[in-house]
Amino acid sequence: MDVKKKEGISVLGSTGSIGINTLEILKRLKQRYTVVGLAAGRNVELLLDQILQTKPKIVSVESEKDAEWLKSKCGKGAPEILFGSGGAEKVASANDADVVVSAITGIAGLGPTLAAVKKGKRVALANKESMVSAGPLIREMAEKNGAKIIPVDSEHSGVFQCLSGINKEDIEKVILTASGGPFFRSSKEELAEKTLEEALNHPRWKMGEKVTVDSATMMNKGLELIEAHWLFDVKPDKLDVLIHPQSIVHALVILKDGSILAQLSATDMKIPIQYALTYPARISPAVSHLNLSEVGKLEFYPVDQKKFPLVDVARRVMEEGGSAPIALNAANEVANNAFRSRKIVFTDISAVVIKALEKHVQRPIKSLEDIYFVDRETRRQTRNILLKKELL
Ligand code: MG
Repeated sequence: MDVKKKEGISVLGSTGSIGINTLEILKRLKQRYTVVGLAAGRNVELLLDQILQTKPKIVSVESEKDAEWLKSKCGKGAPEILFGSGGAEKVASANDADVVVSAITGIAGLGPTLAAVKKGKRVALANKESMVSAGPLIREMAEKNGAKIIPVDSEHSGVFQCLSGINKEDIEKVILTASGGPFFRSSKEELAEKTLEEALNHPRWKMGEKVTVDSATMMNKGLELIEAHWLFDVKPDKLDVLIHPQSIVHALVILKDGSILAQLSATDMKIPIQYALTYPARISPAVSHLNLSEVGKLEFYPVDQKKFPLVDVARRVMEEGGSAPIALNAANEVANNAFRSRKIVFTDISAVVIKALEKHVQRPIKSLEDIYFVDRETRRQTRNILLKKELL
């Protein structure tokens, strides 16, 4: 009989889109995995359901008040319930967690991601903002502590799979595909009129609101270029983007001899999430296999930089390096949030980000404190731009 010990999993961002998908996958894979920890923000009702269903040992939530509420609801047999970023870091570094799913959105996910990396965990990374802002630090820490980072982002999961067994010097180009978002076929003039509801109506992927708006501006692809640069140690001039409206091919790798490797799968985040959990094993997914004869055609187009300037902005930021990616991410988080709070119109997002980057002064980044400093400063400057309505 196989008495192999179950692997323990902590899920950071358990009430978000990736977190919910992860827990659904884990329900199917009860024989292999056990949930050790859950960390969430403010959706305590859902978190309570998740606690009762998965019976984790340790839980964290954003505020102390919510932590007290959870304790009162769980009663006897309650898990250890913590709060704040320190709490999420404890969930990330829990001794029994072999795998940590890092799916807190934004720079808020950086501390917990690093906590998992420092403990040498296997990290299923969905939090692209932490890789964009702190790529070199995360890589250095992962190497030092023997942590393995497996990407969850569908494009990066695709690249990761294509690169298996490939010599680095044989890589000519790594291409991330983009659906083009809901406004791929809109004219530049039409973009200014787009509402939040339209931006949130993604044609292919069902995701959280922040990334869905990033997808509409194509900032998402810009952030993913930088994420790929750090994850795979590929130089900026070897990274590219292609619009692929069907979202069936997630990534392509062009090799020296002209061969192109591609990763294709159904457009469902459960596939890359599950692979990050079971890697290197492959097991049957909860979603049906892709039927290519039903898909029919696969189209590819270049990005229209006039309509979606943030892809090029991200490329320049990636080439500049240093503190620039931190500033790009921070300015975008503020602008994205302002659009979702209906304070600015759709095309202001890119205008605000570009303005904030013009004001950014390059700084050497040597520590986590340096990263947080640039992040804070850029947020303050970006909020000032919004307040003064310098360009709005
Ligand atoms: Mg993606």
